[in-house]
Parts: sequence; C-alpha cells; structure tokens
Amino acid sequence: MTQTAGTGTIDELRKTFQGEVFGPEDPGYDDARRVWNAVHDRRPAVVARCESTEDVRTAIGFATEHDLEIAVRGGAHSVAGDSAIDDGLVIDLSKLNEVTVDAEAKRAKIGGGGLLGDLDAATQEYGLAVPAGMVSHTGVGGLTLGGGMGWLTRMHGLSIDNLVSAQLVTADGRVLRAAEDENPDLFWAIRGGGGNFGVVTEFEFRLHEVGPIVHHGMLFWDQAQGPEVFKLARELFADLPREINVAIAGLNAPPAPFVPEHLHFQLGYALLVNGFGSAEQHAELMDRLRTALPPLFEFATPMPYTAVQQLIDEANGWGKYNYEKGAYLEELTDDVIAVITEHLPRKQSPMSINLYYRLDNAYSEVADDATAFSGGRSPRFATFIVGVCGVPELLPVEREWARSFWSALVPHSLGIGSYVNSMGEIEDDRVRASYGEKYERLARVKAEFDPDNVFHRNANIHPARI
Ligand code: FAD
Repeated sequence: MTQTAGTGTIDELRKTFQGEVFGPEDPGYDDARRVWNAVHDRRPAVVARCESTEDVRTAIGFATEHDLEIAVRGGAHSVAGDSAIDDGLVIDLSKLNEVTVDAEAKRAKIGGGGLLGDLDAATQEYGLAVPAGMVSHTGVGGLTLGGGMGWLTRMHGLSIDNLVSAQLVTADGRVLRAAEDENPDLFWAIRGGGGNFGVVTEFEFRLHEVGPIVHHGMLFWDQAQGPEVFKLARELFADLPREINVAIAGLNAPPAPFVPEHLHFQLGYALLVNGFGSAEQHAELMDRLRTALPPLFEFATPMPYTAVQQLIDEANGWGKYNYEKGAYLEELTDDVIAVITEHLPRKQSPMSINLYYRLDNAYSEVADDATAFSGGRSPRFATFIVGVCGVPELLPVEREWARSFWSALVPHSLGIGSYVNSMGEIEDDRVRASYGEKYERLARVKAEFDPDNVFHRNANIHPARI
C-alpha cells in the first residue's frame, strides 16, 4: 500500500462526495482526526465525513483505488484506537446519526454513526429504549457490532439481541440488508463480530418500555471493606430481581456535590443500583444493603432514564489517556475477591477504575451460538480494568497496573478471552479465544464478504481460505 493522497487526489474525492473531506492542509482537520482516547494522536491522509450511504460507497471506492488503508469511525470510542489511523482514510460516520422511531411497532432506526444519547433521547420521547451501554457519548456502531451491554442487559439482553436488521456497505461497494430472513449468515456475524464485514449505515432495533423514571442509588465503602463489599454483592446476585441492575466499581470517590468533602478522592468500592421496577422494590434493596454493610456515604434519587444514561459521561470524557483489559468471571469467589482487593490499591492515577457488569437473566436466555458475541451466555461478570490519566507520561504505569491486575485475575476467570469491545489493544490470540468455536464460522463469513480483509482495523477476523 502506498498510503499517500496529495491535495489534488483529495480534490478528486471532493468532486463526487456529498459530505466534507478533510486533508492535512484543511481547516478542521485536527478536530476531524481526534478520537476519544488521546493516546491515538494519528494523522490520516483523508477524513471523509459521510452524509449518506452513497458517500460511504464513494469513500470505500476511493480508498481502494488509491491504496489507502481504511479506518471506520462511529463514535470514536475504540480504546484500542481502531477508528484512528496514520496516512490512511477515515470513513467518518458522525453525520449519519438520524433516529426514527415507530412507537407502535416498537422499532427504531439510527444511522451508523449515531451516539447512544441520540438513540435514548429519541426513544424516550415515547417511554421506550434500546438496551445499550452506560455512557451516552459512546457510538451505537462500535458498541452494537461488538455486543452492547449496560443497565438493561439483565432485563432485555445485549444490544445485538435487540437488533432487527442492518444496512451495510461491503468492501466491494454492495449495499446489503442483513436480517434473520436476508443474508442470515451476515446478520449472525455482525451481531458480535465487530466492523469486520462492512460499514453499517443504519441499524434497526426492537424497543422496550423503560422509565421514564428510574430509581437510582449508589453506596460507597472504603477500600479496606472490599472483601465484605464483594461478598455482599455475591449474595445479592443470587436472587436479584431482573428489573434491578447493580454494577460494582473500584474507584476514587469523585469530588461531586453528593460526596462529603473529606471523602473526595478516597479509594473504595461503589455499588450502583438502578431499579426499573417500583420505588418500594428499590428502597427495600437499598435498605438491605446499608443494613448489611453501612457505607461511608450514599446517594439515592429517582431520575429520568436519560439522566441515568449520562451519570458517568463526564467522568469518561474525551481527551484522556486510556488503556484497558477485560475478562469474564463466572463467580466472585474468595480467590477472585483476593486478587481484586490486592490489585485495586496499586493503581496510581485517581482516574483509573475497575468495573463489574452483571450478565444473566435475559443475557443468558439467548443461545450461545445464536449470535457471534465474544463470550458464552452462561451467567457471569464482565470486568473492565481501565487505566486512565490526564497526561501521557503517567500512562505506562497505569498500563502496567492493568496488565498485572489482569494477569493475576486470568487464572480465576473464564480464560484469556473477553468482550472484544473491552480490548485496549488487539491481540490476535485473545480475539480468537474470545470467539472460541465461533471464530471459524466468522472467518468463513469474512471470506465471503471481505476476502481481502479491507476492514481490518478492529478485533480482526482473518478470512478463511476457501
Ligand atoms: P469507534 O472507535 O468509532 O469504532 C470502534 C470499532 O467499531 C472500529 O473498529 C470501527 O471500525 C467499528 N465501527 C464503528 N461504527 C461502525 C459502523 N457503523 N460500521 C462498521 N464498523 C463500525 N461497551 C459496552 O458494551 N457497554 C458500555 O457501557 C460501554 N461503555 C463505554 C464507555 C466508554 C467511555 C468507552 C470508551 C467505551 C465503552 N464501551 C462500552 C465500549 C464500546 O462499546 C467500544 O469502545 C465501541 O467500539 C465504541 O464504539 P464507537 O462507535 O464509539 O467507536
């Protein structure tokens, strides 16, 4: 690949392109090339900000003709930097963010570059929602193609479990629809197999009645109480109603108004408790928790679903330096708890965090092989060990913290594989382990729809040789 594109060449693209095109000389280039994780400060030859499916076709054709490597950018939240590229062409989908809701049919369509906040805002107008992630500025595209887990997963499954169809542009410029009854192999593959098979320009989701009010609660304990917090959580999940979801976070208390000032930045463990059922049900659970283990502080209030979806937006803002490792845990065993409570205090940056999402109920009611999701469907926890700092010089220490924490956890986990969207770097052996037996089928679908591996800046599936 030559991977160059002079101004004249870029002008050629402009002639047939509806959207904006940015080369290194253009105003707006620096903004257009920026991604969420500041680690990936890359300089593409061209950023093609698409306005339509036709633009996506044009951009793919242009990149192919000029031997430019392609990066596809939805919400730009890939921690591994898959949507950033040096020298190549970025297909920027951020303008493809229109949402249409059919409240009667309980269906929503959103463009391939929409954000979770776009989807939540439009669907909540009708008291409806798509199960997705916990941070509203994340892209629907990358999140959904990898799986999509969040507060509604226990009740309604992953985002992919609610995907009805998708429209995508393949490497050779075909525009295809994938659904149960149309290109079913492709539909299977895009539900977990990432951006390997084409550029999705529209997703169609099934909607659920949610909110508009959610009962939110948060309890925080000192790090010394870590073992008790995890044992309490372990008991809790044994009979937790599906309309309540609880996430566990090892973190420094934020300097927020609801945190007593003397506890700002204190290291500890939080349980975030979101109830989608009655106020009484949520209050009962909060009471059970605070009685079993009195917290240092707590916060509880009803709030709109859209506000819950934005609660940790600011803490996860753009422009920081991030690294991440993920794993699946079958249980919070005593050995697991010992590893967590030994390793959390070793982090140096107050921004670094360790999260546990519970996956069971609706998540586990879907057959393992029904989708290409990178993980089995038995009840489990997905953990995310995330090193975060404000300056690049500190990142090596946090990266090392995440890696050694992960290495200590792996012997007690379901293996080296993980949710592919939690990979802070793409390691081929871990991608294969994450998909397990599904990898071979994914490789065959890849060979059919992208035999030359044009879309390889992702948790890459190598095309099968057929
Ligand atoms: P991008 O960087 O734009 O894309 C990521 C990958 O997806 C790239 O390989 C890209 O090529 C591909 N891609 C994106 N859009 C398309 C498309 N339309 N067609 C084809 N390929 C596409 N995940 C969860 O499941 N739940 C969470 O709660 C959650 N919270 C997160 C919070 C933060 C702050 C961050 C950084 C990540 C979070 N994630 C979560 C992980 C998230 O799902 C992934 O980072 C995901 O890749 C982000 O998608 P994106 O479109 O924003 O990213």
